[in-house]
Amino acid sequence: MSDVQSNRAGDGAAPGSRLDAVVVGAGFAGLYMLHRLRQLGLSVRVYEAGSGVGGTWFWNRYPGARCDIPSMDYSYSFSPELEQEWTWTERYATQPEILRYLEHVADRFELRRDIQLGTRVTAAVFDEATDRWAIRADDGARVSARFLIMATGCLSVAKTPDFKGLETFQGPLYFTSRWPHEGVDFTGQRVGVLGTGSSGVQVIPVLAEQAAHLAVFQRTPCFSVPARNAPLDPAHASWMKANYPEYRRRARETRAGVVMEGDPRSALEVSPEEREREYRARWEQGGTGFLATFSDVMRSPEANETAAEFVRSQIRATVRDPAVAEALSPRGYPLGTRRLCVDTRYYETYNRDNVTLVDVKASPIEEITPRGLRTRSAEYALDSLVLATGFDAMTGALTRIDIRGRGGAPLKQKWAGGPRTYLGIAVAGFPNLFTITGPGSPSVFSNAIVSIEQHVAWIADCIAYLRARGLGRIEATAEAEDRWGAHVKEVADGTLYPRASSWYIGANIPGKPRVLMPYAGGVGVYRKTCEAVAARGYEGFSLSRGG
Ligand code: FAD
Ligand code: NAP
Repeated sequence: MSDVQSNRAGDGAAPGSRLDAVVVGAGFAGLYMLHRLRQLGLSVRVYEAGSGVGGTWFWNRYPGARCDIPSMDYSYSFSPELEQEWTWTERYATQPEILRYLEHVADRFELRRDIQLGTRVTAAVFDEATDRWAIRADDGARVSARFLIMATGCLSVAKTPDFKGLETFQGPLYFTSRWPHEGVDFTGQRVGVLGTGSSGVQVIPVLAEQAAHLAVFQRTPCFSVPARNAPLDPAHASWMKANYPEYRRRARETRAGVVMEGDPRSALEVSPEEREREYRARWEQGGTGFLATFSDVMRSPEANETAAEFVRSQIRATVRDPAVAEALSPRGYPLGTRRLCVDTRYYETYNRDNVTLVDVKASPIEEITPRGLRTRSAEYALDSLVLATGFDAMTGALTRIDIRGRGGAPLKQKWAGGPRTYLGIAVAGFPNLFTITGPGSPSVFSNAIVSIEQHVAWIADCIAYLRARGLGRIEATAEAEDRWGAHVKEVADGTLYPRASSWYIGANIPGKPRVLMPYAGGVGVYRKTCEAVAARGYEGFSLSRGG
């Protein structure tokens, strides 16, 4: 019998509010999860805080926003019909185009009737008597669900820097991650942008073309490679569509969920001239394939430094003012250990007369004033301020919900020293809870769609397995979680990632524990591990009939 039909009293849920599953979030992950659970015949409701579907692509509407994984890879593979009927127009699709795609998916698979928009889930408590989750939302709704699936996104909670005086600023303040739907006209304005990560790198060149003056406040210079974006070549698109099944299969077996021809040689075994030629060829191709120029760029500090120095040489060759070029040149952390940015005319923007780079590492920001921003050495008059200051990544959206597992234990407390999960999908002490692309899975180290699809399919198969056997409860064991945590750490320690202060390790949020959150073992290896766990009857989980 479906849980929705049993309608037991006593958990505060109104009739009709007893569901088989609740999914939180309606981005790429939540939409596909809903589709798969419906195919199993489950009663499902999706709660989404935004007023529309699309997740990342609903919220991040800043000018210049686009994907940095080629569009034909950054799309669902679960429906061959969808793959064939959708046409991407650019190598890297813009935010409006990706949002249109997700809206199309919601319509095409008739998902909207089970999605409640404009509703934020605030609390979820596991009831050990019934083995169900009691879920509360900010509209006062209370529902009960057998399974709770968090599709809340790794980059969905904006970081708000606590600058002195921020609230006194009299001009408009914009977050790239909460951009106004009606757009913003900066014509004639003095605009400040704070942040030079992927969002800053995309928005800065576009704002520079509009504003009277643009001041870029940079604390840590990023490594950025050119996108070489262009209209999608119809011949390439046709080839991809004809070869999608095999292409997707290969992508799933790679490290990062994207098919890239990597050079198997070490950067250190070739002559300086050849090295330069290879880096230049990748630079001309554009995109994150630059990281695959040699096999050890992401493993050996010395090899990495050759790639880093090549990027610095390109900055010097592009930016006319040598002092500005030097200030833009990243040093002190390996290339790729903070997310590599992919840009369109980013470095060229600093040759414009109306753009000023302000180094706020050399001269830190002291306060935001009513009319601008003051650093230790100067004051900048601003009409508008744009914050591209990033996210409380991977754990932020989960710890903002009051999730309580067995014995009323809060997830936030369990994760006080850093996130602990089994496979990044499940948490010991929190039965029937699944986290899509959670910490401890490859997640943000990969083409997100490949990782999302893998998790969604795994979770759907797991629930189907339980239902086929009359089981209503699944929980990761503490031992399996500890073993997985140790493995994630061991793999992390063998990489260059811990050498950078990045959001990958929580370093961008004051007080956040410093733990490399994504799993660095690669999506191909990880997929095999997850498949083996399932094939062995969900090894590392305890399964039971449930209340
Ligand atoms: P999201 O798209 O983040 O969706 C999560 C949803 O959950 C949000 O809509 C949020 O409102 C909702 N939510 C959260 N908490 C609650 C709550 N308590 N109650 C109700 N709703 C809630 N990845 C790539 O692989 N390639 C790229 O090119 C790429 N580009 C990116 C560009 C930008 C600007 C950003 C910010 C991220 C990018 N990413 C990229 C990462 C991106 O987040 C993923 O690719 C993907 O969109 C994540 O989908 P998701 O469904 O997991 O999460
Ligand atoms: P981010 O990479 O965390 O960058 C935030 C920037 O803000 C950094 O330059 C940071 O400097 C700066 N900053 C934050 N607080 C500051 C403070 N108090 N004072 C001065 N500077 C401050 O965030 P993001 O650019 O939004 O990108 C996050 C992730 O989203 C990316 O890594 C990527 O995964 C994804 N994304 C992808 C794309 C794409 O190209 N498709 C676009 C946008 C985002 P410090 O480093 O010194 O802290």
